[in-house]
Amino acid sequence: MLNVVVDMYGCPNRCLHCWLGHMPNKKMPEDSDKYIMEYFSPYFNEIAYYSWLREPDFCDNYKERWERDIEISKNTVPNRFELASFFRIVRDDKYIPFLKSVGVKKVQLTLFGLQSTQDRYIGRKGAFKEVMTATEKIIENGIIPRWQCFINEENIEEILELYEMAKEIKNTKCPSLEFFVHEGSCDGENKKLYPIRIRKQNIPESLIPVYMDYNEILTERECIEILKNDSNAPHFPIGDDITLNISNEFDVYYNFTNISKPWKIGNLKTSDQDTLINNILTGNTPALNTLKQCKYGELAETYGEKLSEKAFSLEDYKMYIVNCYLEQLK
Ligand code: SF4
Repeated sequence: MLNVVVDMYGCPNRCLHCWLGHMPNKKMPEDSDKYIMEYFSPYFNEIAYYSWLREPDFCDNYKERWERDIEISKNTVPNRFELASFFRIVRDDKYIPFLKSVGVKKVQLTLFGLQSTQDRYIGRKGAFKEVMTATEKIIENGIIPRWQCFINEENIEEILELYEMAKEIKNTKCPSLEFFVHEGSCDGENKKLYPIRIRKQNIPESLIPVYMDYNEILTERECIEILKNDSNAPHFPIGDDITLNISNEFDVYYNFTNISKPWKIGNLKTSDQDTLINNILTGNTPALNTLKQCKYGELAETYGEKLSEKAFSLEDYKMYIVNCYLEQLK
């Protein structure tokens, strides 16, 4: 089974936490879908085609586009997920009826803080007001909002305020509203926020019940302690279900980390087709081959801050030190 996730239209936002990494918006030719499906079709029996890698429904003809994604997929259909474009919710009256028509029951909305913080983190003036308006509009239309909040050292008080706002909305307008907080991965753009990453002891007690997988959160110091004698090489098994991210330049990446030069597998226009497919299936890529020479213990020793109390899940921390290593090879 293959998922191909293609950046056909780009994204209106430039979120400071974007794990994919920032890329210029560039509209791909409309027939790119056909080209990509024909490229992979001889090798895979099931292919789900997604025309959006970043913002869902960013193109004006989102309804036809969704129908086309379904039509062009092979022996399966793409998933809708609990995602939508808040950019479009506040600009297009036909959009919420469309979401309802395709069975969307919940929509996740991302928050970093109050007005100026949210606008700065999303990279657009007005983003906070848009998320608030989008929340109201979807509630009015029977869709449940799920507020996802990213916490770090600079926005703790604002996340606490958002929690109070969420409780108020739950009490007055939408008892089903969902709210959760997390630190996010330390990947892509979010890796640049390492200096202000939340320290575990600074996570407010009142947020622990709504903190995602709080029991699995470690400090960086604890991650290093666990990894210091780990002689295993970083290993990213390529299973039977593969998801590929395709950039607007037809560059191909696995979806387990950011889109950056070290992780590029090849290009759909310029690489030899059989070689590229074989490399995708076997994990024969520059990054994965380089990582075979590494040991987690050595990466933690080299790139870890041994006294750091910054909060990480162990898996996010492993990816963080792997990317520290790959970036310095550039
Ligand atoms: S996180 Fe999502 S919405 Fe934000 S810049 Fe990245 S792709 Fe766009």
